[in-house]
Amino acid sequence: MTASEARAPRPAAEGPDAAITLTVLGCRSGAPDAGSPCSGYVLTSGAGSILVDCGSGIAAALARSGLDEGLRGVVVTHVHADHSLDLVALAYGRRFPRPHAERLPLWLPDASLDRVDRLDDLFGIPTLPDLARPIAQSFDVRPLRLDGADEIEVMPGLRMAAFPARHAVPSAALRFSCESGTIAFSSDTSWTEGVLQAADHADLFVCEATYLEATEQELEGHGHLTAELAGRLAAEASVRHLLLTHLSSWRDAEATLAVARSAAPGMAHISLARPGATWTVGA
Ligand SMILES: [Zn+2]
Repeated sequence: MTASEARAPRPAAEGPDAAITLTVLGCRSGAPDAGSPCSGYVLTSGAGSILVDCGSGIAAALARSGLDEGLRGVVVTHVHADHSLDLVALAYGRRFPRPHAERLPLWLPDASLDRVDRLDDLFGIPTLPDLARPIAQSFDVRPLRLDGADEIEVMPGLRMAAFPARHAVPSAALRFSCESGTIAFSSDTSWTEGVLQAADHADLFVCEATYLEATEQELEGHGHLTAELAGRLAAEASVRHLLLTHLSSWRDAEATLAVARSAAPGMAHISLARPGATWTVGA
């Protein structure tokens, strides 16, 4: 695996590619102290791109990245605003001024499908037929079962399985596998078996580390991890590279990194997500 903070992702080519590149579009959870969009990541291969999460600011960040051109699908881990609010902005952009011919597959936890109907109720524009039901018109909405049993081919050469994270709403820990490796996402979660399964021996594990210190209610009542728990979880799952994200305050970034490293002393690669950073598996 190679990593670079500034390398531009390669343009999409025809057919699947052995390597998968993760691009961080946004990684913020709370206060805009780093000027970053909220959660959004793109997985790119020669076959195209998959967007994972679409928090506020991600539709514009995706357009700026140029990766929207090869977009083959969207996966939303859970319906909290910092992971899903820009679905409406993305849908508007795909419908106005000229509608895209194809609807994109949109996967989200099966227990949350009603949310997308409600977005259309709120933001549909009946006087513009192309925007009457922007979500339904832009996306082929598909339920995501969180049992790890189904592997979905999200684009040629890239398969996805979803496992139950533990959070205030249904939340999907994701495991993407291709010929050359595995990239996993914790989603928002507390410590739970489903996330360990998603991350098992992953080449790259994008894991939330919302807090440095937290109450029992914040961790177990609502469902988040501390930097220490993220480090311990990644070590227990034997991942090769831990990428910490979703910090509640990016002023704590260096302390978060230090705590996670001390909690996973044998792990050679632990990094912080930053907007624009890219990481490639299987290069
Ligand atoms: Zn959440």
